[in-house]
Amino acid sequence: MKNIKERTCVTCGKKESKDKLLRWVVFKEKIHPDWTQKFPGRSIYTHHSKFCVEGFYDSPKLAAKLLLKKIHHHISKDEVLKHIENQSFTSVKHFFYLGIKSGVLVKGQNLIEECARKQDVFKVCFTASDVAQRTLKNMINIFGERLVKTKLTKDEMGSIIDGRPLGVVAFKGSEMAEKSRFYIDVINNLRSGDIDAY
Ligand SMILES: [Zn+2]
Repeated sequence: MKNIKERTCVTCGKKESKDKLLRWVVFKEKIHPDWTQKFPGRSIYTHHSKFCVEGFYDSPKLAAKLLLKKIHHHISKDEVLKHIENQSFTSVKHFFYLGIKSGVLVKGQNLIEECARKQDVFKVCFTASDVAQRTLKNMINIFGERLVKTKLTKDEMGSIIDGRPLGVVAFKGSEMAEKSRFYIDVINNLRSGDIDAY
């Protein structure tokens, strides 16, 4: 039996499994983002995307939907986007860590190429935004459409693992690969069009 709880994004109206949405909860008449989805209270869901979060903040119907007289957000729109980005980064860190622990994450061009020669099956490859062009080309040759260009720098990718700059990591098929992909997509979305990110 399928047991995926679905919720509707209040901004774009699309249905989604609950764990792929961001929960917002009313506490003391203010709206708070609830990353862990456990806080009791009246709640509402949006996607993590800039479009859906900004639409949520700007929605004139929000007060009625949450049975509030007036809308008070606990933190500002800019702060909340930063919060979502930081939380996503922490989640990526968590799933990379589990990936290393369980041996499904391979880091660095040399190791990845060696594994690929041994016919290891990779699910996804993440490259840093400032990775060398030649490395990027080699990885595209190996991964094709399974390659995801992140908007994380080599320093940021490295800080996720051991602090040393890192241009490329690859995941063998696993739940950790899926989850990392999800949160990296969130970060990419939040950083798109943001000139400070480069
Ligand atoms: Zn949405």
